[in-house]
Amino acid sequence: MTPSHAPLPVERIAMLHGWAMVQRAAGYVWQPESVEEIRSVLAYARANGHTVVPRGAGYSYNDAALNREEVVLDLSRMRRVTAWDSLNGVITVEPGVTVRDLWRAVIADCWWPPVVPGTMGPTLGGALAMNVHGKNAWRLGSIGEHVICFDLLSPAGDLVTVTPQSDPDLFHAAIGGLGMLGIITSVTLRLRRIVSGTLLTHTFAACNLPEMFALFAGNAADADYLVGWIDGFASGASLGRGLVERADFEMWPDSLALHPDAQDLGPRIAGLVPRDQLWRVMKPLFTDPAMRAANEAQYRKGALLGEHPRRVTHAQFDFFHDYLPNWQRSWLPGGLRQVQVFVPRGRAPGVFAEMLDRAQHMKLYPYLCVFKQHRADPFLLRYQQDCFSLSLDFHVTRHNASRLDRLFADLRNLAVANDATFYLAKDDMLDAATYARTVGPERVARFLEMKRQRDPDGLLQSDLFRRVFAGN
Ligand SMILES: Cc1cc2nc3c(=O)[nH]c(=O)nc-3n(C[C@H](O)[C@H](O)[C@H](O)COP(=O)(O)OP(=O)(O)OC[C@H]3O[C@@H](n4cnc5c(N)ncnc54)[C@H](O)[C@@H]3O)c2cc1C
Repeated sequence: MTPSHAPLPVERIAMLHGWAMVQRAAGYVWQPESVEEIRSVLAYARANGHTVVPRGAGYSYNDAALNREEVVLDLSRMRRVTAWDSLNGVITVEPGVTVRDLWRAVIADCWWPPVVPGTMGPTLGGALAMNVHGKNAWRLGSIGEHVICFDLLSPAGDLVTVTPQSDPDLFHAAIGGLGMLGIITSVTLRLRRIVSGTLLTHTFAACNLPEMFALFAGNAADADYLVGWIDGFASGASLGRGLVERADFEMWPDSLALHPDAQDLGPRIAGLVPRDQLWRVMKPLFTDPAMRAANEAQYRKGALLGEHPRRVTHAQFDFFHDYLPNWQRSWLPGGLRQVQVFVPRGRAPGVFAEMLDRAQHMKLYPYLCVFKQHRADPFLLRYQQDCFSLSLDFHVTRHNASRLDRLFADLRNLAVANDATFYLAKDDMLDAATYARTVGPERVARFLEMKRQRDPDGLLQSDLFRRVFAGN
């Protein structure tokens, strides 16, 4: 019997958006606190003919955790650390535990997460479902490579513990599987031993894009972290100029910085200005002339300070985006669009130069450009390859929205023609045919076959899933 498509309770409706504030959709939100409660929501949705998207903290830029006018399973209340072996650095957490919860729980015992994204807001469930990477991606890969096991609740309500040995196919498909093969209800992760709460950092100035690549080549063999920042306004001979920040673990204990409160960025700047309100006053600064000046000043400051070593805490280095929380709100009403491409090493210099040039030619200037290096990982829907990535963040306004559409289409075609891959936590422009071409049609077919077996009725869905898998 086909279930009726019964109306959902109106008191649960909420307007949700991707982190970048461009894609939005109303959804009916449930916030379970246990596996049993998740089972009930899945059963309720199935019985009433609805689909369900799992949602963590909503830090994906796009439509990954949206499910238009359908059920949204918000897992942020399942936030307990359930086991911690401080001798071996192995932790088990519920899916709503955030990256911040995680490092705060372990740092005093001299451990740190092996892979973290640029903000500490995401949950572990969301981090696994997107298989996040950090500023050490070329050395340590993605977070999935550090997972010992996870519990996966099937759409039918069966709970299994998945390890790389017990079910290698499911392990490598559910990590990075966009939440479409089951709900992750528990994660066991192997952490990285640290001696000190601080990192030693060096900043190197690159006067153009070839120098940026050269600095990565010169540091990648022995750095613990590397990240490049590019001035998106610099052109001509200075195209791609920027700074490379290198950070290394320290060998000497610094017990003071091992305290969670000494790591954190603190709720107030200089003890006065509430950090989470700063975006309100920053709003007027996000214009082309002001950002051109800010990029110039940033570059000059970095070049001037030179390569003097500085000590910063792990949190200060890793979570650059949290210095100004909710900064994307300053970009309202238009919001933010990011294009991030992962281009094979040999082709990256030419493609990145072309991308910056084409954007500037259309008088579209990225306010934030980030450059990283990656290695291939063993996951089915992998986006990392032996490559470099470049992300360009654009402020969407009434005046540039349609030009941005044209630029994004152009950059997508350029990237695809150069064997690039795309990260589904950020992408807002791929269609199904393009996605299949980039990740490989055989991988898409295998993923969809596993989905058909585990979720024959298509209970788990998202706006992103419908966009990039429709018709495959
Ligand atoms: C400022 C900023 C900086 C970022 N920097 C980086 C970076 O450096 N590297 C990087 O890799 N990413 C980065 N990201 C992206 C971010 O790490 C990912 O989008 C991450 O998945 C967000 O986690 P979340 O908990 O918010 O999940 P959501 O965005 O809520 O959901 C993400 C996906 O996970 C699924 N999901 C959520 N919980 C579960 C669960 N329990 N079981 C199954 N599926 C689930 C959802 O259905 C969705 O498909 C950044 C994001 C922001 C906003």
